[in-house]
Amino acid sequence: MSHDTVYQRLRSHLAYLKLPAAAEALAGKLDHAEKAKPSYTAFTEDLLATEVEATERRRLAGRLRFSHFPVIKRLEDFDFDAQPGLDRRLVEELATLRFVEEKANVLMVGPPGVGKTMLALALGYRAIEAGYRVYYTTAADLAARCHKAAIEGRWATTMRFFAGPQLLICDELGYLPLQAEAASAIFQVVSRRSEQGSVIVTTNRSIASWGEIFDDQMMAAAILDRFLFKATLLAITGDSYRMRAHRERLQQLREGVAATLER
Ligand code: ADP
Ligand code: MG
Repeated sequence: MSHDTVYQRLRSHLAYLKLPAAAEALAGKLDHAEKAKPSYTAFTEDLLATEVEATERRRLAGRLRFSHFPVIKRLEDFDFDAQPGLDRRLVEELATLRFVEEKANVLMVGPPGVGKTMLALALGYRAIEAGYRVYYTTAADLAARCHKAAIEGRWATTMRFFAGPQLLICDELGYLPLQAEAASAIFQVVSRRSEQGSVIVTTNRSIASWGEIFDDQMMAAAILDRFLFKATLLAITGDSYRMRAHRERLQQLREGVAATLER
Protein backbone atom coordinates (compact mmCIF):
# COMPACT_ATOMS: atom_id res chain seq x y z
CA MET A 1 0.00 0.00 0.00
CA SER A 2 1.45 3.30 -1.02
CA HIS A 3 2.21 6.05 1.46
CA ASP A 4 -0.27 8.33 -0.32
CA THR A 5 -3.10 5.92 0.23
CA VAL A 6 -2.43 5.63 3.97
CA TYR A 7 -2.17 9.40 4.14
CA GLN A 8 -5.47 9.78 2.33
CA ARG A 9 -7.14 7.27 4.61
CA LEU A 10 -5.82 9.07 7.65
CA ARG A 11 -7.19 12.35 6.31
CA SER A 12 -10.57 10.80 5.69
CA HIS A 13 -10.57 9.25 9.20
CA LEU A 14 -9.95 12.71 10.63
CA ALA A 15 -12.73 14.17 8.51
CA TYR A 16 -15.11 11.32 9.41
CA LEU A 17 -14.38 11.82 13.10
CA LYS A 18 -14.96 15.57 12.65
CA LEU A 19 -11.44 16.64 13.50
CA PRO A 20 -11.03 19.32 10.84
CA ALA A 21 -8.21 21.25 12.52
CA ALA A 22 -6.09 18.08 12.77
CA ALA A 23 -6.93 17.20 9.17
CA GLU A 24 -5.94 20.68 8.07
CA ALA A 25 -2.64 20.58 9.97
CA LEU A 26 -1.72 17.00 9.06
CA ALA A 27 0.36 17.59 5.90
CA GLY A 28 2.43 20.33 7.52
CA LYS A 29 2.99 18.31 10.68
CA LEU A 30 4.09 15.26 8.66
CA ASP A 31 6.57 17.37 6.69
CA HIS A 32 7.93 18.77 9.90
CA ALA A 33 8.12 15.29 11.47
CA GLU A 34 10.23 14.01 8.54
CA LYS A 35 12.99 16.31 9.75
CA ALA A 36 12.37 16.64 13.49
CA LYS A 37 11.66 12.90 13.97
CA PRO A 38 9.46 13.20 17.08
CA SER A 39 8.39 10.06 18.95
CA TYR A 40 5.09 8.45 17.89
CA THR A 41 3.59 9.65 21.14
CA ALA A 42 4.81 13.22 20.69
CA PHE A 43 3.55 13.30 17.11
CA THR A 44 0.11 12.02 18.01
CA GLU A 45 -0.18 14.33 20.98
CA ASP A 46 0.84 17.34 18.90
CA LEU A 47 -1.66 16.52 16.17
CA LEU A 48 -4.56 16.06 18.59
CA ALA A 49 -3.56 19.13 20.60
CA THR A 50 -4.19 21.16 17.43
CA GLU A 51 -7.77 19.91 17.41
CA VAL A 52 -8.24 20.44 21.14
CA GLU A 53 -7.06 24.04 20.84
CA ALA A 54 -9.37 24.71 17.90
CA THR A 55 -12.32 23.21 19.79
CA GLU A 56 -11.55 25.26 22.89
CA ARG A 57 -11.35 28.44 20.82
CA ARG A 58 -14.65 27.64 19.11
CA ARG A 59 -16.42 26.89 22.39
CA LEU A 60 -15.04 30.04 24.01
CA ALA A 61 -16.31 32.07 21.06
CA GLY A 62 -19.70 30.35 21.40
CA ARG A 63 -19.95 31.13 25.11
CA LEU A 64 -18.94 34.72 24.40
CA ARG A 65 -21.61 35.07 21.74
CA PHE A 66 -24.20 33.58 24.06
CA SER A 67 -23.24 35.89 26.93
CA HIS A 68 -24.51 39.08 25.24
CA PHE A 69 -21.76 41.12 26.86
CA PRO A 70 -22.02 44.72 25.65
CA VAL A 71 -18.23 44.91 25.73
CA ILE A 72 -15.32 42.78 26.93
CA LYS A 73 -13.72 44.04 30.11
CA ARG A 74 -10.71 42.52 31.79
CA LEU A 75 -9.85 42.54 35.45
CA GLU A 76 -6.24 43.23 34.47
CA ASP A 77 -7.38 46.62 33.16
CA PHE A 78 -9.21 47.60 36.33
CA ASP A 79 -7.36 50.43 38.05
CA PHE A 80 -7.58 49.57 41.74
CA ASP A 81 -5.60 52.67 42.70
CA ALA A 82 -8.45 54.79 41.38
CA GLN A 83 -10.80 53.03 43.80
CA PRO A 84 -8.95 52.89 47.14
CA GLY A 85 -12.14 52.23 49.06
CA LEU A 86 -12.74 48.99 47.19
CA ASP A 87 -11.73 45.75 48.88
CA ARG A 88 -9.21 44.48 46.34
CA ARG A 89 -8.71 41.16 48.08
CA LEU A 90 -12.41 40.53 47.94
CA VAL A 91 -12.39 41.17 44.18
CA GLU A 92 -9.45 38.80 43.82
CA GLU A 93 -11.29 36.20 45.86
CA LEU A 94 -14.29 36.58 43.54
CA ALA A 95 -11.96 36.23 40.57
CA THR A 96 -11.11 32.70 41.71
CA LEU A 97 -14.74 31.93 40.75
CA ARG A 98 -15.35 29.97 43.90
CA PHE A 99 -18.64 31.89 44.18
CA VAL A 100 -19.76 30.42 40.85
CA GLU A 101 -18.74 26.96 42.00
CA GLU A 102 -20.74 27.49 45.21
CA LYS A 103 -23.70 29.03 43.36
CA ALA A 104 -23.40 32.14 45.48
CA ASN A 105 -24.40 35.67 44.52
CA VAL A 106 -22.60 38.99 44.37
CA LEU A 107 -24.16 42.37 45.04
CA MET A 108 -22.20 45.36 43.77
CA VAL A 109 -23.41 48.64 45.21
CA GLY A 110 -22.12 52.06 44.30
CA PRO A 111 -22.88 55.35 42.57
CA PRO A 112 -22.73 55.65 38.76
CA GLY A 113 -19.37 55.47 37.01
CA VAL A 114 -17.37 53.70 39.71
CA GLY A 115 -16.82 50.52 37.69
CA LYS A 116 -19.65 48.21 38.75
CA THR A 117 -20.47 47.11 35.22
CA MET A 118 -16.79 46.76 34.40
CA LEU A 119 -16.15 44.54 37.42
CA ALA A 120 -19.23 42.43 36.74
CA LEU A 121 -18.19 41.96 33.11
CA ALA A 122 -14.58 41.26 34.06
CA LEU A 123 -15.63 38.56 36.53
CA GLY A 124 -18.06 37.25 33.93
CA TYR A 125 -15.29 37.05 31.36
CA ARG A 126 -13.16 35.05 33.78
CA ALA A 127 -16.08 32.67 34.19
CA ILE A 128 -16.54 32.36 30.42
CA GLU A 129 -12.85 31.61 30.04
CA ALA A 130 -13.15 28.96 32.72
CA GLY A 131 -15.90 27.26 30.74
CA TYR A 132 -19.00 28.55 32.51
CA ARG A 133 -22.07 29.77 30.69
CA VAL A 134 -22.66 33.40 31.55
CA TYR A 135 -25.47 35.74 30.51
CA TYR A 136 -25.58 39.50 30.78
CA THR A 137 -28.76 41.56 31.00
CA THR A 138 -29.84 44.81 32.57
CA ALA A 139 -32.61 44.58 35.14
CA ALA A 140 -34.84 46.68 32.84
CA ASP A 141 -34.23 44.33 29.89
CA LEU A 142 -34.86 41.30 32.04
CA ALA A 143 -38.18 42.75 33.17
CA ALA A 144 -39.13 43.72 29.60
CA ARG A 145 -38.26 40.25 28.28
CA CYS A 146 -40.35 38.62 30.98
CA HIS A 147 -43.25 40.98 30.29
CA LYS A 148 -43.17 40.19 26.57
CA ALA A 149 -42.88 36.48 27.30
CA ALA A 150 -45.92 36.57 29.56
CA ILE A 151 -48.00 38.23 26.81
CA GLU A 152 -46.79 35.80 24.18
CA GLY A 153 -47.30 32.72 26.32
CA ARG A 154 -43.60 31.96 26.67
CA TRP A 155 -43.28 32.54 30.39
CA ALA A 156 -42.08 29.06 31.32
CA THR A 157 -39.53 28.94 28.49
CA THR A 158 -38.19 32.34 29.46
CA MET A 159 -37.90 31.39 33.12
CA ARG A 160 -36.03 28.26 32.08
CA PHE A 161 -33.75 30.38 29.90
CA PHE A 162 -32.81 32.73 32.73
CA ALA A 163 -32.29 29.80 35.07
CA GLY A 164 -29.90 28.13 32.61
CA PRO A 165 -26.58 30.00 32.70
CA GLN A 166 -24.26 29.23 35.60
CA LEU A 167 -23.77 32.95 36.08
CA LEU A 168 -26.38 35.63 35.38
CA ILE A 169 -25.32 39.26 35.44
CA CYS A 170 -28.23 41.55 36.21
CA ASP A 171 -26.92 45.06 35.71
CA GLU A 172 -28.34 48.43 36.73
CA LEU A 173 -30.99 47.40 39.19
CA GLY A 174 -32.65 50.52 40.53
CA TYR A 175 -31.80 52.89 37.68
CA LEU A 176 -35.44 52.80 36.72
CA PRO A 177 -38.26 52.19 39.17
CA LEU A 178 -39.84 48.80 38.51
CA GLN A 179 -43.54 48.15 38.23
CA ALA A 180 -45.07 45.39 40.34
CA GLU A 181 -45.03 42.96 37.41
CA ALA A 182 -41.35 43.64 36.70
CA ALA A 183 -40.47 43.22 40.35
CA SER A 184 -42.31 39.93 40.40
CA ALA A 185 -40.41 38.74 37.30
CA ILE A 186 -37.09 39.54 38.95
CA PHE A 187 -38.22 37.82 42.10
CA GLN A 188 -39.07 34.68 40.15
CA VAL A 189 -35.77 34.64 38.29
CA VAL A 190 -33.81 35.14 41.50
CA SER A 191 -35.86 32.49 43.35
CA ARG A 192 -35.48 29.96 40.59
CA ARG A 193 -31.78 30.49 40.44
CA SER A 194 -31.14 30.38 44.17
CA GLU A 195 -29.06 27.28 44.96
CA GLN A 196 -28.92 26.54 41.20
CA GLY A 197 -26.60 29.21 39.93
CA SER A 198 -25.00 32.56 40.66
CA VAL A 199 -26.27 36.07 40.06
CA ILE A 200 -24.24 39.25 40.06
CA VAL A 201 -26.50 42.24 40.66
CA THR A 202 -25.20 45.77 40.28
CA THR A 203 -27.13 48.67 41.72
CA ASN A 204 -26.74 52.32 42.60
CA ARG A 205 -29.21 51.97 45.46
CA SER A 206 -28.37 50.97 48.98
CA ILE A 207 -30.10 47.89 50.33
CA ALA A 208 -32.10 50.17 52.61
CA SER A 209 -33.79 51.75 49.60
CA TRP A 210 -34.73 48.53 47.79
CA GLY A 211 -38.27 49.10 48.92
CA GLU A 212 -38.35 52.05 46.52
CA ILE A 213 -36.80 50.14 43.62
CA PHE A 214 -39.56 47.60 43.77
CA ASP A 215 -42.20 50.00 44.97
CA ASP A 216 -43.25 47.26 47.37
CA GLN A 217 -41.60 46.56 50.73
CA MET A 218 -42.79 42.95 50.85
CA MET A 219 -41.49 42.15 47.39
CA ALA A 220 -38.18 43.90 48.11
CA ALA A 221 -37.80 41.93 51.34
CA ALA A 222 -38.62 38.65 49.59
CA ILE A 223 -36.09 39.27 46.81
CA LEU A 224 -33.41 40.40 49.24
CA ASP A 225 -34.05 37.37 51.41
CA ARG A 226 -33.53 34.95 48.53
CA PHE A 227 -30.70 36.89 47.01
CA LEU A 228 -28.68 37.67 50.13
CA PHE A 229 -29.06 34.18 51.56
CA LYS A 230 -25.68 33.38 50.02
CA ALA A 231 -24.14 36.60 48.77
CA THR A 232 -21.00 38.67 48.83
CA LEU A 233 -21.47 42.42 49.11
CA LEU A 234 -19.02 44.54 47.18
CA ALA A 235 -19.36 48.22 48.00
CA ILE A 236 -17.74 50.72 45.69
CA THR A 237 -18.03 54.12 47.21
CA GLY A 238 -15.38 56.17 45.44
CA ASP A 239 -15.43 58.71 42.65
CA SER A 240 -16.74 58.14 39.18
CA TYR A 241 -13.84 56.91 37.07
CA ARG A 242 -14.88 59.02 34.09
CA MET A 243 -15.30 62.14 36.21
CA ARG A 244 -11.89 61.45 37.67
CA ALA A 245 -10.42 61.19 34.19
CA HIS A 246 -12.22 64.39 33.19
CA ARG A 247 -10.89 66.16 36.23
CA GLU A 248 -7.35 64.98 35.50
CA ARG A 249 -7.72 66.16 31.91
CA LEU A 250 -9.03 69.50 33.05
CA GLN A 251 -6.16 69.82 35.50
CA GLN A 252 -3.63 69.03 32.76
CA LEU A 253 -5.32 71.56 30.50
CA ARG A 254 -5.15 74.22 33.20
CA GLU A 255 -1.49 73.48 33.84
CA GLY A 256 -0.85 73.65 30.11
CA VAL A 257 -2.57 77.02 29.85
CA ALA A 258 -0.71 78.31 32.90
CA ALA A 259 2.61 77.17 31.43
CA THR A 260 1.82 78.88 28.12
CA LEU A 261 0.88 82.13 29.85
CA GLU A 262 4.10 82.09 31.88
CA ARG A 263 6.20 81.94 28.73
P1 ADP B 1 -20.83 51.82 36.67
O1 ADP B 1 -21.36 50.54 36.09
O2 ADP B 1 -20.46 51.73 38.12
O3 ADP B 1 -21.71 52.99 36.39
P2 ADP B 1 -18.80 51.45 34.66
O4 ADP B 1 -18.29 50.11 34.96
O5 ADP B 1 -19.73 51.56 33.50
O6 ADP B 1 -19.44 52.13 35.94
O7 ADP B 1 -17.57 52.44 34.45
C1 ADP B 1 -17.63 53.58 33.61
C2 ADP B 1 -16.42 53.57 32.68
O8 ADP B 1 -15.21 53.78 33.42
C3 ADP B 1 -16.25 52.25 31.95
O9 ADP B 1 -15.73 52.48 30.68
C4 ADP B 1 -15.25 51.52 32.83
O10 ADP B 1 -14.54 50.57 32.07
C5 ADP B 1 -14.39 52.63 33.33
N1 ADP B 1 -13.90 52.37 34.67
C6 ADP B 1 -14.57 52.54 35.83
N2 ADP B 1 -13.82 52.27 36.89
C7 ADP B 1 -12.61 51.89 36.41
C8 ADP B 1 -11.39 51.49 37.03
N3 ADP B 1 -11.25 51.43 38.35
N4 ADP B 1 -10.36 51.16 36.21
C9 ADP B 1 -10.48 51.24 34.88
N5 ADP B 1 -11.60 51.64 34.25
C10 ADP B 1 -12.67 51.96 34.99
MG1 MG C 1 -23.05 50.30 34.99
